[in-house]
Amino acid sequence: MGKNSIGIDLGTTYSCVGIWKDDKVEIIPNDHGNRFTPSYIAFSYAVRLIGENAKNQISMNPFNTIYDAKRLIGRQFNDPEVQLNMNYWPFQVIDMNGRPYIQVTYKGKIKQFSPVEILSMLLCKLKDSAEIYLKERVTVAVITVDSNYNDSQRQAIRDAANIAGLSILRLISGPIAAAIAYKLDNRISVEGNIVIVDFGGGSLDVSLITNIGEGVLEVMATAGDAHLGGEDFNKRIVNYFISEFKRKFKKDITTDKRALCRLRTACERAKCTLSSSKQAFIEIDSIFESIDFHTSLTRDVFINLNQDLIQRIIDPVEKVLRDARIDKSQIHEVILVGGSTRIPEIQKIISNFFNGKELNKSFNPDEVIAYGAAVKAACLSGVRSGKLDNILNIDVAPHSLGIESAGGIMNPIIKRNDTIPTRKSKIFTTDLDNQTNFIIKVYEGERVRTVDNNLLGEFELTDIPPAPKGVPQIEVTFDIDSSGFLEVLAFNKNSGQHNKFVVTNDKNRLSNKEIEQMIKDAMKYHSEDKNVKQKEQARNNFERYLGNLQNALQKTITWFDDNQGAEKEEYERKREYLINQVLSELEEFQINN
Ligand code: AMP
Repeated sequence: MGKNSIGIDLGTTYSCVGIWKDDKVEIIPNDHGNRFTPSYIAFSYAVRLIGENAKNQISMNPFNTIYDAKRLIGRQFNDPEVQLNMNYWPFQVIDMNGRPYIQVTYKGKIKQFSPVEILSMLLCKLKDSAEIYLKERVTVAVITVDSNYNDSQRQAIRDAANIAGLSILRLISGPIAAAIAYKLDNRISVEGNIVIVDFGGGSLDVSLITNIGEGVLEVMATAGDAHLGGEDFNKRIVNYFISEFKRKFKKDITTDKRALCRLRTACERAKCTLSSSKQAFIEIDSIFESIDFHTSLTRDVFINLNQDLIQRIIDPVEKVLRDARIDKSQIHEVILVGGSTRIPEIQKIISNFFNGKELNKSFNPDEVIAYGAAVKAACLSGVRSGKLDNILNIDVAPHSLGIESAGGIMNPIIKRNDTIPTRKSKIFTTDLDNQTNFIIKVYEGERVRTVDNNLLGEFELTDIPPAPKGVPQIEVTFDIDSSGFLEVLAFNKNSGQHNKFVVTNDKNRLSNKEIEQMIKDAMKYHSEDKNVKQKEQARNNFERYLGNLQNALQKTITWFDDNQGAEKEEYERKREYLINQVLSELEEFQINN
């Protein structure tokens, strides 16, 4: 597997893929030649579109163009985050047995897709780009996740990769990937404590990492805000202009999804412009009932609209400092990654928090995470290079993991921010005399009562030999790997019986049968897309061929009309020239097809 292990930054709004090649990282361009791909999928009457092609047609096909799917993974339909976002998305999200599914019309039929399936389509596209670039198959990847992803969300990414035909070498967090990239490229000047703020389209992810030296990067603490990203700024701007439109024209634009999509695209563009200019103009012709909407937004208004969101960026920064018990004066480097860190006000507030510290944003924020993931992929797949020798990272558990003890109390076995991989055990016993079975309920979360935490699953140790209460010694072991995947074992020390964790209660997870079906569908869609692409290519080539022939013929006819009295040799020479031109066009057409 060695050389073709890719690193993927699977982003809420954009995704990027890189590979270690010729002793350095190459960011792989997609079929448009772009180094990152919009995380958009669109369905139409004839085709499925992914990336730029999907994003570019959103205002014409708003109900069937999906973005932000990452915000849905590992969540229940009634999750407040899902409910809140549903009001803004033009596509429809439906409740399928408690899980959110996206409903679209594809090839004239109503179809439902799970968010995992949508992500798998994006992963498939990135894999394809890599295969075209490398001219070889790609089957393994390091994929980045938000560092505070819970078990369901990590499993969802694993399932999406599986459906896309990729096996996961490791899941690493965005900030860690960024730290690896900065480290490899010698962009971290000192050994010491680094705060990395990864602020993209969908979420905010902050890590405090210690650069121990000799290549070792140890995560001390992570924190984040899964409900804060560039998309939230877009929403505020959109709402502002909806009100302005109402005020100016006494009309409600929200009744027209197509108009809303056009407004959203214009607002995002304006937001990005405001990172380098003080004012941005919005000009959308015939947006609603033939009204032209021409307006503008200043940086000050943008800041006012988003003041509370901008302030919220400091909360996870304070939290990682608190958790790691490190004062902000002991932070040697502050690194910014993710598109939203381009906003000057965000930079200002972070720099001010660190007493005016200069921020390190020397790496391209759109590519740095895929870069780090590609380095990690090369390290893990055994690529030999002096540059990779010293790259090692130590990650931490994003949430506490434990089991329920009497009275519904959370009994943590692995604590949040414990270094991973790790294996930890605790001894439990029975509450009743002659108790023959012992139920182990596994939870993740920081709250004291288990009802407030997230139930991952439960299993039972049965046939415990009868004994007075408190006598059986049941050892429960939590084993968590470097990607954050958990296995739980229970062992009766008195009798030697043991049992492994089996997820029985994971409401969010797809079943094996569902995944198998999705793998089959993915192959079908992939081959349909390929056929459409090939057909399109053949059509374009033929059109170009006909055009060239027409051109040659037209030129000769014009010459003929203008030269009615030419000599015999001239006519013959022209005729031969035309035949040769037709033949060479034909030859070129045959070679290219
Ligand atoms: P990422 O997920 O890191 O690719 O970040 C994507 C987010 O960054 C989107 O919400 C973009 O609108 C936002 N973004 C990209 N460029 C800029 C910019 N120049 N100014 C403000 N936001 C930006």
